[in-house]
Amino acid sequence: MKRVLLGGMKHETVSFVPGVATLETFRNNHLVEGADVFGPARGTGQEIDGILAIAQQEDVELIPTIDAFGGAAPVVADAAYEYMRDRILAGARENAGRIDGVMLPLHGAMSTESLEDPEGDLLTRVRELVGPQVPIVVSFDMHCHLTDLSVRPADAIVGYHTHPHVDFYDTGQRAMRILVRALKGEIRPVVMQRKTRMIASAERHNTSQGPMKEVMDRILAMEQEPGILAATVFATQPWMDMTELGWSTVVVADGDRALAQARADELARMLWDRRERFLVRKTPIEEVIAFALAGEKKPVVVTDSADSVSGGGYGDGNLLLRALLAAGYQDTALLTVTDPQAVATCFAAGVGARLTLPVGGRLTPAFYQPVQVAGYVKTLTDGDFQAELPPMPVHAGRTAVFQAGGITLVLSERPAMTIDREVYHSSGLRPRNFKLVQVKSPGGFRAIYSSFAAAIFELDTPGPTDSDLTRLPFRRIRRPLWPFDPDLQEPW
Ligand SMILES: [Zn+2]
Repeated sequence: MKRVLLGGMKHETVSFVPGVATLETFRNNHLVEGADVFGPARGTGQEIDGILAIAQQEDVELIPTIDAFGGAAPVVADAAYEYMRDRILAGARENAGRIDGVMLPLHGAMSTESLEDPEGDLLTRVRELVGPQVPIVVSFDMHCHLTDLSVRPADAIVGYHTHPHVDFYDTGQRAMRILVRALKGEIRPVVMQRKTRMIASAERHNTSQGPMKEVMDRILAMEQEPGILAATVFATQPWMDMTELGWSTVVVADGDRALAQARADELARMLWDRRERFLVRKTPIEEVIAFALAGEKKPVVVTDSADSVSGGGYGDGNLLLRALLAAGYQDTALLTVTDPQAVATCFAAGVGARLTLPVGGRLTPAFYQPVQVAGYVKTLTDGDFQAELPPMPVHAGRTAVFQAGGITLVLSERPAMTIDREVYHSSGLRPRNFKLVQVKSPGGFRAIYSSFAAAIFELDTPGPTDSDLTRLPFRRIRRPLWPFDPDLQEPW
């Protein structure tokens, strides 16, 4: 029986929010070790579930080390990364000489206080421990920040094929199939990448329409070609101020490096040729409010994606709330705002208490300020629920529903993703019953909300995950980089 070391470590860093993500941040999301990796979270459709399914089918023993998910948050503390890394390295050491392969489901867009590419550091160290003969296969999120440091030690790299991301399980299966075939000696995977000097916000990463669909159609056709084992576009998380920021394409071939490089180059050229179509033009808040008030249909779904919780924002942006109050909005609206102090005030006051309190704008003061809101405490919950996308348990911290006229505010202690509706459902709120529903996600929310939204608008707001990247205070990125240098002619 073949034995495969398994370790998962996922985090998406955004550079433009203050603070540091600690091990506590991961524990508040998901962090299990050893045999617990196969605990209650299994069966929810994550990559590890796909890996496990192939392992069982192929009679491969998985040796679990750690599975950690920190969501999207500020830069990771060195000590937190080192803890997770060392769990995986300890697994490699303890099983030295008895490991046939290594499978690492990572995210790829983590940075730490000291490292721009900790995944590359992890992979390099794993390679040193297991030696040159043991195949290492990695799966990454589509928003991976890929550098040569990660590519060099890997035998195969695969990524999601969907945005909004829904193919976690499938990606795990695709990665594990390549590893198993390599272990059987059927294939000899080689991986090549092409880094492109372009970057674009996540609103237009949608793989079911527009330019990204055209690229994805080519990827799916490419994967049917003889000799090609996997092809991926990494539309890197754009809110990372990192030296090597830029999209990349990756192709895994069976032994043929030249073929892999040629196909990766072809995909990179496709992206570059479509670059203008990845730009985002958003709608001013006042226009969106006027649209909602003018019609009968609901819900009008609006994304405040410059404060994207799934992109690493704290979710304390309150510009839509401020505009609704200023406009004297009387219809129904459903919004989330992260604000631990407002939550504490609501819990101290209790259900039914009427009060006026400052809301939002405390965690990202470079972009937002608190706004005074009058209303009453409607519901109090512990903020624990199961998300639909990605399928993970969520601990949003204590959560208060605060009713201010027609405006229903879900206030949580910690940032809660609004890719799906579960933060609302867990407080007994049905988005389809509201005229206006706010989410804080650049594109992932469309997988859920498109099916019932009367209309969808992208709000033109500033924030740490602004789609207009040229408005953000980047300092480390290597120039030229499109769209910062719009006249750039040669992308690599
Ligand atoms: Zn992603």
